[in-house]
Amino acid sequence: MMVLTKKMIEIRTILQKVGQSSTLTLPSIVVIGSQSSGKSSVLEAIVGHEFLPKGSNMVTRRPIELTLVNTPGSTEEYGEFPELGLKHISDFTSIQRTLTDLNLAVPDSECVSHEPIQLTVYSPNVPDLSLIDLPGYIQVVGQNQPLQLKQKISELCDKYIQAPNVILAISAADVDLANSTALRASRRVDPRGERTIGVITKMDLVDAVRGAAILNDKQYPLRLGYVGVVSRAPQSQGLFKMGASNLLAAITKNEKSFFSTHPLEYGPEAGVSVGTVTLRKKLMHVLEQTMSASLQTTSDAIRQELEEATYEFKVQYNDRPLSAESYLAESLDALKHSFKQLTGEFGRPQMRELLKGELDQKVLDLLAARYWNKPITDLLPPPLETDKIADLPKTDTDSLYWRRQLDASSSALTKLGVGRLATTVVAAAIQDSVEALLDQSSFSNHPFARSAVMDAASTILNERFYSTSDQVENCIKPYKFEIDVEEREWAQGRQHVSTLLKKELDDCETAMSTLETSVGGRRKLREVVSFVDKTRKGDVVVEGDGRSGAGGFSAALLSKAVFLRDRADIIKLRLMAVKSNQCANLKNKYQCPEVFLDAAASKLASTAVLFLNVELLSEFYYNFPRELDLRLGKHLSDADIERFAKEDPKIRRHLEVIRRKELLELVLEKMESLKQLEGLERERLASN
Ligand code: GDP
Repeated sequence: MMVLTKKMIEIRTILQKVGQSSTLTLPSIVVIGSQSSGKSSVLEAIVGHEFLPKGSNMVTRRPIELTLVNTPGSTEEYGEFPELGLKHISDFTSIQRTLTDLNLAVPDSECVSHEPIQLTVYSPNVPDLSLIDLPGYIQVVGQNQPLQLKQKISELCDKYIQAPNVILAISAADVDLANSTALRASRRVDPRGERTIGVITKMDLVDAVRGAAILNDKQYPLRLGYVGVVSRAPQSQGLFKMGASNLLAAITKNEKSFFSTHPLEYGPEAGVSVGTVTLRKKLMHVLEQTMSASLQTTSDAIRQELEEATYEFKVQYNDRPLSAESYLAESLDALKHSFKQLTGEFGRPQMRELLKGELDQKVLDLLAARYWNKPITDLLPPPLETDKIADLPKTDTDSLYWRRQLDASSSALTKLGVGRLATTVVAAAIQDSVEALLDQSSFSNHPFARSAVMDAASTILNERFYSTSDQVENCIKPYKFEIDVEEREWAQGRQHVSTLLKKELDDCETAMSTLETSVGGRRKLREVVSFVDKTRKGDVVVEGDGRSGAGGFSAALLSKAVFLRDRADIIKLRLMAVKSNQCANLKNKYQCPEVFLDAAASKLASTAVLFLNVELLSEFYYNFPRELDLRLGKHLSDADIERFAKEDPKIRRHLEVIRRKELLELVLEKMESLKQLEGLERERLASN
């Protein structure tokens, strides 16, 4: 018959996973008693191990759903906290420590928590049982304990002692039964005493006549009766060394010798139940009966619940199957697919453009530092009669000064760390593209996977970074000594730098007009600027803080205005120069540094890109999908995959409905086979 209980407990455990609904569960034995009634000692005697939290101010603050699983033929004894993922703990002091920690974690302000701790103990020495240990009733609220504690414990117990659960009401023999909080609570919910087992502890503390009278109690008659126990192990030396599974043996031995000394009161003829072993048997029997009796109602409730889940699955999810694994695999495939597209869209030309853009800025900076910062008059040759083009000194094209300027500028350009710059720019662009892909993928709702993907990208890029930037730097090395520009390149540079200068001019002018608006119009700005010009030339002497004549504007604003005006003026001149015949060919390169530097930057960009392509981009395109598989593929644990999928609330709900449906189907199937087993058992008993 015991195999039925085992199966029912299995079903009960699965139902715990389905949900909170109280109709969806099989009954359990709920243990109540006031503090110090000996409740823990009884439970530990049944389990055969000390494992419950102890301590003077230690109040159990959460229900413990204790499932005992008999494992015949095995020698191992261990516990598991399935919800915490703690498995196979064979050290019962460690179980005790975990339980203590879990209890202490309930904040004082909450007093007690209704959330149960699930603990399963596997052992060849335990019966198949499902017990719920509740916080002990307290009589007097102790120091440092919140005032509502008493009330809250009582409420929590009331919730659990409802039908169809069996109540195990623990009372100590040395306390008048009329004062037993456990019995009083049980009477409130089970007034006819039909589902309460009375346990009288500390039988050794009262004389035998009184003890027997308690067990035969007529004042609080219980259909399932009372059992008297002495569940404190004798303090024999070396109990710990004996091995804890001998706790029950020690208690049983002690009980036997105690009860047998009073054969009249506790012997077979006395008609009372005594001893922990008797109690265990009774619990097994009663639990099985109660579970069997609820089987039908529970399976009806499950069937109804299953219908609802099936309906929801159909209506909301179109019967679409989904698992955390399939969801992850699909999402990963989709990401890889869009990544494949990216590889076709971002290649050498795109890299080159990016890098050139970056070098353009450096070229502008160099020009500004080496050419455009001179007073205009320095830069201006006597105007050309023909086209009035402002120019670098024309009289002496080979002037050593301008040669040096150009050499120094191109040297600065080639030595600015092109390798590192190019690698950084391209790596950042790749990272941005991956991020954009992520935003459009289903991973966008998954912080965990998102960071795994970004990590995958940055790992590959970081790994390649130094070697790539070294390679690029090496390959542009020859340009550090000499840059040979061909006519064709010159023409392209001239074309390109015109656009660049035009854009720079536009930017300057936009900034100017913003400034104009902020000072109150173009005229005002002109006045201010011309005032500054005058002070520069020394025509006006500025007194005090220099604000008076400048209309009260700040020095920073004034210098910005002047800077923009000067910059715009010089760019206009240079733009004309670049477009003029003078810059039409390579011969005049010293007078056209803009064109020369642009052509040089183009050469640098093109060369760098050749190596970036081999060293960084191709490597990345090859490795990234593999790295994704590594991080988000098969080696992820089931728990990780589950966690990932559930990050998206929509997917989470979908998965939950499916899981609920599957669990309910599984339970129902198990229940059907259980009923058949039960039928067979009944037939067997009838035929005997
Ligand atoms: P709980 O607070 O209800 O869990 O009670 P405990 O199991 O911790 O027991 C309270 C005290 O009573 C402890 O000191 C136990 O050693 C003692 N005790 C428990 N059972 C017995 C018993 O059968 N006989 C005697 N003499 N003491 C017991």
